[in-house]
Amino acid sequence: MGMTEPLPPQYNPTGLEARLYREWLAAGLFTPRRPGPGDPRPYVVMMPPPNVTAILHMGHGLNNSIQDALVRFERMRGRQALWLPGTDHAGIATQNAVEKLLAREGKTRFDLGREAFEARVWEHVRETGPVILDQLKAIGSSADWSRTYFTLDENLSHAVREAFVRLHEKGLIYRGKYIINWCPRCLTALSNEEAEKEEVTSHLWSFDYPLADGSGVITVATTRPETMLGDTAVAVHPDDPRYRDLVGREVLLPIVERRIPIVADQEIDPKFGTGAVKVTPAHDPLDFDIGRRHGLPAIEVIQADGRMTDDLPNLFAGRDRFEVRKLVVREFERLGLLRKTEPHTHAVGHCYRCDTVVEPRLSEQWFVRMAPLAAPALAAYRSGALRFIPERRGEDYAQWMENIRDWCISRQLWWGHRIPVWYCLDPACGGAHVSRTALEACPACRGPVRQDEDVLDTWFSSWLVPMSSLGWPERTEDLRAFYPGDTLVTAPEILFFWVARMVMAGLEFMGELPFTTVYLHGTVRDTQHRKMSKSLGNGIDPLDVVERFGADALRYTIIAGMAVGTDLILDPADLEASFAPGRNFANKIWNAGRFLLSNLDGTTRPLAGLHPDVIRRSELTLADRWIIARCEATVLEATLAYERFRLNDAATVVYHFLWSDLADWYIEQIKPRLYGDQPGGDVARAVAQRTFEVALQLLHPVMPFITEALWLRFPGRALGARLITSPWPESDRRAADHAALRDFALVQELVSAIRTIRAEYGIQPGQQVRAWVSARHEAFEIELATIQRLARTGPIGFGQPPREPGGSAVLSDGTTVFVPLGDAIDLGQERARLARETERLNGLVAGQEKKLGNEQFVARAPAEIVAKEREKLTSWRQQARALEAKLAQLGSA
Ligand SMILES: [Zn+2]
Ligand SMILES: [Zn+2]
Repeated sequence: MGMTEPLPPQYNPTGLEARLYREWLAAGLFTPRRPGPGDPRPYVVMMPPPNVTAILHMGHGLNNSIQDALVRFERMRGRQALWLPGTDHAGIATQNAVEKLLAREGKTRFDLGREAFEARVWEHVRETGPVILDQLKAIGSSADWSRTYFTLDENLSHAVREAFVRLHEKGLIYRGKYIINWCPRCLTALSNEEAEKEEVTSHLWSFDYPLADGSGVITVATTRPETMLGDTAVAVHPDDPRYRDLVGREVLLPIVERRIPIVADQEIDPKFGTGAVKVTPAHDPLDFDIGRRHGLPAIEVIQADGRMTDDLPNLFAGRDRFEVRKLVVREFERLGLLRKTEPHTHAVGHCYRCDTVVEPRLSEQWFVRMAPLAAPALAAYRSGALRFIPERRGEDYAQWMENIRDWCISRQLWWGHRIPVWYCLDPACGGAHVSRTALEACPACRGPVRQDEDVLDTWFSSWLVPMSSLGWPERTEDLRAFYPGDTLVTAPEILFFWVARMVMAGLEFMGELPFTTVYLHGTVRDTQHRKMSKSLGNGIDPLDVVERFGADALRYTIIAGMAVGTDLILDPADLEASFAPGRNFANKIWNAGRFLLSNLDGTTRPLAGLHPDVIRRSELTLADRWIIARCEATVLEATLAYERFRLNDAATVVYHFLWSDLADWYIEQIKPRLYGDQPGGDVARAVAQRTFEVALQLLHPVMPFITEALWLRFPGRALGARLITSPWPESDRRAADHAALRDFALVQELVSAIRTIRAEYGIQPGQQVRAWVSARHEAFEIELATIQRLARTGPIGFGQPPREPGGSAVLSDGTTVFVPLGDAIDLGQERARLARETERLNGLVAGQEKKLGNEQFVARAPAEIVAKEREKLTSWRQQARALEAKLAQLGSA
């Protein structure tokens, strides 16, 4: 479709959207200039990097539509806008995906070996990597693709090593044997955040542990009986009178027949269970601490793969942990030591990548000491330098910071950044060396070295991207120009994984926040408020929506449908219901634009800004002044809404202005001026063009394609000018016109009132009616022709209406409207219809009264049913009364 061809009558986004996108891209409009001295600060948004193997889902659609709207808004406001995209190598997720592919060939990663496996993952990533980025383009994302990064790129890997070395030098990275969260399926350590708590219904078992001297028992409760095989103590609170005499004595641990001490520890809660707890230092973080305080041994009984160790009694050795759970309970029962089995619901950690129950396990890992990093990150929030939208999310952030725990960063995976530590192979030296560059020999003894086998947590590279994607640790021009950024838009799920850690990294390595505003948006849910997910099969494919309804319709639905702090509800079973309003809006804009374009003759006198500098104010009609004032109000409201991240308000305000004010009222009002030789045609054209263009600009961040397509068509475009980079409409206080707003609103009210009466009495659309208005308002006289045309009336009378059958209404200022009906409809028929309908309703009312008079029904039926039936009665009574009033107005024949 060239610029000179007429617009097709139907808006068809397919093809048009892709073409416009290519044009923007080719013109380099997504790539900002580095600002020079005196330029305004750039606007910088870091796109949450999708996993490199990801396929676009509605969550991405939502997240990126919001970011794109903000970026387009600030770009039009004259700031160099950098929206920086990338993909994340996503350690566990990607490794799992490739392992699944291998499994289909009957292989495991161990069959391939590390090098071949890594090569295989790279191959997979090269295939899938571009997919999601292309999909983001299809929804209109105006990201700077020329700067696209991948977290395993050489320069980003360099940044990861640099961060590791610097933190290590400061003593903030250490290696040690601690209890960590372990996924027995992925065979790797996880951070606390990666072990997602899920409510599980299980049991709480109470076991009797006999005292070693045979003088009695002490009862302990547990949800993980299999771990008792590794118990090395029983602990009680020192002040618990029930157990004071037992502290220091021993129990004989059943099954394994091990003598273990009863210790007193301040951390034991006497009110939990029996007040006595079993202590398994090798398989529980709290027990690990107790064990350290009391010098208890840690006996590992569960192996990496979730099976029990081989040195246990035959019944258990090598068996799965959950099988052994049952066997241990059975064994206690057999021994007569099972005291109680109670149902119990509690939160259990699950691997966030494969949903396997996480096993707390004693293991040697690398950790980041987080408290020193958290302090400034918390202070930045408390001082107001870092703010959250919605505000309450800030407290989630603060709480996490206040209760921060050290971060386990090593993963027993093959896909990721290798830990930059080399161990000397000479046992006499035994050095461990942290290095920015690969070591060939031990720096201490020149002996051979081997690099740590493990890789770093994926988030250890993600937390650096606001800097590393701009070239850090080098002092690049990009880093100088675009750090710190402004807004981070993301799902609340990754507040701790990513957002909080980026804040810490930014403050630690750059001394400045990476962004100042964190906008945590809602979640996409179905009509039953369930989160959309693959496993539930309730997802919506955004590309499907783009194909059927257009990217603009998708974006409009997303943005208009979600307020700050709420979720987006869509119906996967009925895409039409969810997305048709967006498509209908696009069609409405298209039709209004086509109409205007076909009526512009290129000789239109210009309006400079909203204020008619060239066309004199005295030339404007009431309707012209009204639409200009409405436009001014819309500029103010929409701009404020965008600034405050209330994108749904911005979309709604512009929707109303375009659909109702412009298309339904103003364009209808000016039609006679456009068609005929009536005076003021060029004024109407100029006002319509200008206000329509402003509306397109205000809507562009939400619906970029249709707005650009139409805007480009309007006369007077400079060569290469595009809506995407046109300056944001300025508010012009001279355009405010309170009187015009008030007066034209009254005209609208009058037209609407007559239309309502026409609809109520079923007057045919083509049928003209007479009308009487009680007050002779100046606006009515000015717009008399408009009122007559839009309400389809003949001459309008003022003052006292004639005494004849008719319909009436009262306007907000007290003016009465009267429409005689005698010559518009068959009064006899209408009376009969109303009488029949009244009779029917009265019948319903009588039946309902009887039903509710039945004491048995009222007594037996659930209260909500009775309440519903009462509501029906009230509603039918009201309807019957309204009909009777109408009938009375029509008088008798
Ligand atoms: Zn897992
Ligand atoms: Zn050495």
